[in-house]
Amino acid sequence: MHPLETRLYRTHRVMDLLEAPSGTEVIVSGWMQRRRDLGSIIFIDLRDRSGVVQLVFEEAKGTPKQIHHEAEQLRNEYVFTAKGRVVLRDEDTVNPKIETGSIEVVVTDLEVLNAAKNPPFYIQDGIDVDEMVRLRYRYLDLRRPEMQQMLMLRHRVFRAFRNFLDDNQFVEVETPILTKSTPEGARDYVVPSRLQPGEFYALPQSPQIFKQLLMVGGMERYYQIARCFRDEDLRADRQPEFTQLDIEMSFMRLDDFLALMEEMFVRVFQETLGASIERPFMRMTYQDAMETYGSDKPDLRFELPIHNIAHIVAGTEFRVFQDVLAKGGAIRALVAPGCAGYSRKQLDDLNGFVAPFGLKGVAPVALMDGKIVSPIAKFFSEETLREIAEHTGAKDGDLILIAASEWKKALTALGALRVKFAQELGLINEEEYRFLWVVDFPLFSYDEELGRYVAEHHPFTMPKWEDIDKLETDPGSTRAQAYDLVLNGYELSSGSMRIFKRDIQERMFAALGFSPEEAEEKFGFLLSAFEYGTPPHGGIAFGLDRLVMIMGKGTSLRDCIAFPKTSSGTDVMTDAPSQISEEQLSILRLSVAKKGRAATPVK
Ligand code: ASP
Repeated sequence: MHPLETRLYRTHRVMDLLEAPSGTEVIVSGWMQRRRDLGSIIFIDLRDRSGVVQLVFEEAKGTPKQIHHEAEQLRNEYVFTAKGRVVLRDEDTVNPKIETGSIEVVVTDLEVLNAAKNPPFYIQDGIDVDEMVRLRYRYLDLRRPEMQQMLMLRHRVFRAFRNFLDDNQFVEVETPILTKSTPEGARDYVVPSRLQPGEFYALPQSPQIFKQLLMVGGMERYYQIARCFRDEDLRADRQPEFTQLDIEMSFMRLDDFLALMEEMFVRVFQETLGASIERPFMRMTYQDAMETYGSDKPDLRFELPIHNIAHIVAGTEFRVFQDVLAKGGAIRALVAPGCAGYSRKQLDDLNGFVAPFGLKGVAPVALMDGKIVSPIAKFFSEETLREIAEHTGAKDGDLILIAASEWKKALTALGALRVKFAQELGLINEEEYRFLWVVDFPLFSYDEELGRYVAEHHPFTMPKWEDIDKLETDPGSTRAQAYDLVLNGYELSSGSMRIFKRDIQERMFAALGFSPEEAEEKFGFLLSAFEYGTPPHGGIAFGLDRLVMIMGKGTSLRDCIAFPKTSSGTDVMTDAPSQISEEQLSILRLSVAKKGRAATPVK
């Protein structure tokens, strides 16, 4: 029999050694973190998932000569098993920097289980290494304690959600991965069918339609930790596949549903972080969130509200403002506390910052030593300027920034500036969790390129009952029974009460510009299902990767996913995506036109 078949690898994990009485004979296994060779004494730090412990090789304490010699051969990341005695360290050698610093193991036997090449980076927290290298050697990166902590937090968060949902009669049901397009507003990933040549499955952008059909199917309370796929242009913090906690529920009023979700979050935060979150969560309409914070996902850990000053400047001479107002635009102001002394260069940078939002710039008004200094001061009376200062609550030393543009552009730009100032001025309490429901979203937004309305959330969202007749007369002002959960400025989730009657769903499709034939072709099965006794229902989906990132105080989504993709959607470790063989192509009856850049996608 091979010795490894009978070998006992461990009696204790590193952390469990703390509970073993001094003198206990133990066996531990793991990786070599570090070796310090003092000649007659060798110290080796052994790392397993639970922690790091110091092993001592010293003949005077009982390490056989041969074992001492073998310890000299160990290198970083070698995998080995050691046998020895746990002993309390002398007081003067206690190491308060590691959790097991009060003990060590005097080794009497050692076996190397596997050698390791010198790793491309040192396995420890806080390394400064090119992320591509970390991703290429992900299995080594995952050995670092901070990466393992994040995955373990992820596990605990998932478990806490499952426990809560289980206690509340929710049933976990899986929905298909090979499916038909679900309209969540992104592009689909598609998979060619071999058995139906020329036809394609779409990977789910969400389980939306299936979870609604589960409600038609009488499941009443469903959840799933679901992988979703969206082929979007990747931004730094986006992943093409991501994990959602997907929930759907029948026979529940909107208010009661939100209350249940709050209860769930309170429990998950309590169980996983020991954090107490206050309920009920604050609620704000989309309109108010935009008006006050310039965002539909405002970070409420700091104030810095946006102020409407249109009425103050309405009657003044300044042409730029007059033109904006004449076109129905907005004039809003944000106060940057203590920034009156900004240099010309700093102010120019602010203009650069707002440019991507479609603004030429922001007009600065500085309150300095009792005076008001501004390049646009000449267009206004002293009284008007004082009124602006008073209305915005600006004090001496503050800088007021005025944006004049279309409503959404002006507010979004100031909303982004608001966050920038809060970060730069250190106004954010990183320990705080501020949850917020944003409600009463518009049902549609107008897509200039398509020349029609598109669903702001998705086409199954129920309009507010009092707005239903606007579906035909005034789609732009129809509000939705939709809600977003926002945490510290991140959109954690979107959800809505759903349309559950065929006629309303048909009107919705019509408002989106679908002909009855198109609606039938795409969603005929859903429309038919609505004719067989569909209960009122609604649901939500939470982005779990992001939630774990926030809870773990991480800075990158990739650090919260075991095997993430790069920002260009590739996996540099397995080299996916990659070409397939001619044979595979021919079985699928596919041919590849040309390798190179994809054609510009048509929406
Ligand atoms: N399916 C939606 C989404 O993925 C969530 C929902 O409406 O439940 O955003």
